[in-house]
Amino acid sequence: MKQDIRELSQAEMEQAFAALGVEKFRAKQVHEWLWKKSAQSFEQMTNLSKSFREELTNHFSFDLLQESIAQKSSDGTVKLGIRLKDSRMVEGVLIPDGERATACVSSQVGCTLSCAFCATGFLKRERNLTAAEIYDQVVLLNQHAKDHNGKGLTNIVYMGMGEPLLNYDNVLQSIYLITSPEGLNMSQKRITVSTSGISRGIVRLADENKKFNLALSLHAATNEKRDQIMDINRSNNLESLVESMNYFYRKTGNKITFEYILFDHFNDSLEDAEHLISLYHQVPAFVNIIEYNNVEGVTLKRAKKERRDAFVDYLRKRGIEVAVRRSRGKDIDAACGQLANKMEG
Ligand code: SAH
Ligand code: SF4
Repeated sequence: MKQDIRELSQAEMEQAFAALGVEKFRAKQVHEWLWKKSAQSFEQMTNLSKSFREELTNHFSFDLLQESIAQKSSDGTVKLGIRLKDSRMVEGVLIPDGERATACVSSQVGCTLSCAFCATGFLKRERNLTAAEIYDQVVLLNQHAKDHNGKGLTNIVYMGMGEPLLNYDNVLQSIYLITSPEGLNMSQKRITVSTSGISRGIVRLADENKKFNLALSLHAATNEKRDQIMDINRSNNLESLVESMNYFYRKTGNKITFEYILFDHFNDSLEDAEHLISLYHQVPAFVNIIEYNNVEGVTLKRAKKERRDAFVDYLRKRGIEVAVRRSRGKDIDAACGQLANKMEG
């Protein structure tokens, strides 16, 4: 079987080309076509001779996403259902918000973990996405942003399907392709990796000495409660997460975003707020309160407005930096995992 050209690094390409008697600098040219100019085929690489392009076609495959189906929400959110080369489905979402246009990308088909509230968690974990497949979501969503809002993406969040830190190498490689001058050259500071909390992965990220941001899906501020909704907490408890997040902060200078979905009568009392405040004081952080998109078959439900307001007021009065994130794209099921769920029927 031919090797997919898009799965080779520039160094690997140089080696493969050397074996064919092709000069080294050709690898740089092809790399640039692939990642800087987002070429979709060898034919598009017009500064390469026809015979070299034919040679490339003979020796390498050029695997692309099969198709993408866009659904647009009444609030402007666009959700792409993306069929991968092996027919599996993932989703990417574009969230326009004033001056911002945020791409929410997937890192796995399904998810390795099964958090109690998450639709993705009910899917089988099929496989990791390649760096190219993550990059392609960004290119597609960037094109949508340009076509519909007149300018490209301002932010990228790894908050679609999957746990990015359990597909570490490909996620890092995708960030390289998106942010490096040899790639799309977007700002690292505009990227946020969201994790359910893998301590070792957080430490590894910190050691990369990069500028991107980290969000922790906290959702409960005691081990006792977190264990009930996120299995991963049993092996990566809050104490170990606090330690790795502080390490991340020391290395990057970036505060951590705590994502906290408010669930009705589960984690939305003032006592819960107290636990959250106590954790907040252990790590330099912001808090994002997230509105839950109810998921069929899940007993946890979105918190009532009055309880949410009381919770947020309480945090504000205590000087906590907190923002409330409304759920977007409700009419098109833009919540994690829902589209792919439906398509798989
Ligand atoms: N696996 C990573 C990233 C993907 S999930 C993580 O867990 O952080 C991205 C975010 O969406 C997480 O904070 C997750 O808890 C949240 N989420 C999952 N299902 C949701 C739902 N139905 N409504 C609102 N947020 C949800
Ligand atoms: Fe996976 Fe994140 Fe969903 Fe948990 S919340 S099941 S880690 S995608």
